[in-house]
Amino acid sequence: MEVKVNQPERRSWVEINLDQLRQNYNVYKNHLPADTKIMAVIKADAYGHGDHHVAKYLYSLGCRLFAVSNIDEAICLRESGLEGEILILGYSSPRFAKELVKFDLTQTLVSEEYANALSKTGYDVKCQFALDTGMNRIGLDCNDIDNVVETIKTYSKNLNLTGFFTHLCVADDSEDSSQKFTSNQISKFRIVANRLRNLKLPYVHCFNSAGGMFYIQNEGKDSPIKGIVRLGITLYGYAPDINNIIPNGIKPVLSWKSVVSMVKTVKTGETIGYGRTFKCDKPMTIATVTTGYADGFNRHLSNRGNLIVNGMKAPIVGRVCMDQTMIDVSSIPNVKMGDIVTIIGSDGEEETTADDMASLLGTISYEVLCNISKRVQRYYKSQGLLYTL
Ligand SMILES: *Cc1c(COP(=O)(O)O)cnc(C)c1O
Repeated sequence: MEVKVNQPERRSWVEINLDQLRQNYNVYKNHLPADTKIMAVIKADAYGHGDHHVAKYLYSLGCRLFAVSNIDEAICLRESGLEGEILILGYSSPRFAKELVKFDLTQTLVSEEYANALSKTGYDVKCQFALDTGMNRIGLDCNDIDNVVETIKTYSKNLNLTGFFTHLCVADDSEDSSQKFTSNQISKFRIVANRLRNLKLPYVHCFNSAGGMFYIQNEGKDSPIKGIVRLGITLYGYAPDINNIIPNGIKPVLSWKSVVSMVKTVKTGETIGYGRTFKCDKPMTIATVTTGYADGFNRHLSNRGNLIVNGMKAPIVGRVCMDQTMIDVSSIPNVKMGDIVTIIGSDGEEETTADDMASLLGTISYEVLCNISKRVQRYYKSQGLLYTL
């Protein structure tokens, strides 16, 4: 059941701005060729945003295609009542063939060996072949296009094949060599798609967020591969790579917040937290915040980066603990118990993004977002109202 709330009085929570999600979806869609559909990639709990709510909301916007990473995610979504097509992008043991049919899921065929195993189960599982055009992760090897075409033709007879796809691995990089590589991946895929036109498979797709922004526009009028974009990170408001320019109006959907549990003055020479890694070189005002590494707030942020309190940035001091983190609020007036702390998001003039945090950690926004742990409560905001489950 959904409950309306004014202000979450939680220890650590995220707010998902559904109005912004809608805007990202619409702005991105408007940049695509007219007939291109969006397959919303909602694996890993919709990149930490909560897959049930995100999927349901996107469905209300007209989205009918969804992609997840595994069968557990897919079944949970079906059990929550999600309709539309759900593609499982990764491996499921053929032992689950019965469940795949029961929940009307589409399974990726990761190899010919896998296709063979799945067909032997005797279940009429919907499936799509992965093609490997250079990433070397999963799929039929497109260095031998004749073989790929023959394999797909063969299995289209003894499996319920609904399509095939490939994945681009450097579409977010603008270096010449990366652009060449991506164009080559796409052209191998296009050759296969052209040779299999007669099969009239409805789901033929190769573009991720970056591909849909930087490559799909190069496809000709009758290109067989521009029907669908698998949209992940940019749906949530981030660029696939921090150097990418994304369409105007696409902004982060998620904010992460916490509260101050206590404030104290610490004398010169005293230290903060485990390992005594921070030493006060003057009297300092220290606030304790109720979020730690068990919430997905990475411990490598110890003594690095800031949290925002009362519209001002407060440096993290000492080691991030399992459930708590200390910050220096010496230059921020009147910080007190219960004050809201922004971990990701904006407060007044200040803003921290998942990209900022990722840069400090030497990773990407994707990882920061999907590491926000399950005990961090998700709230959904629409037209000024905040809801939770
Ligand atoms: C995760 C994933 C996507 C989405 O990628 P983004 O960069 O987040 O848009 C698309 N396709 C496959 C196969 C994926 O694994």
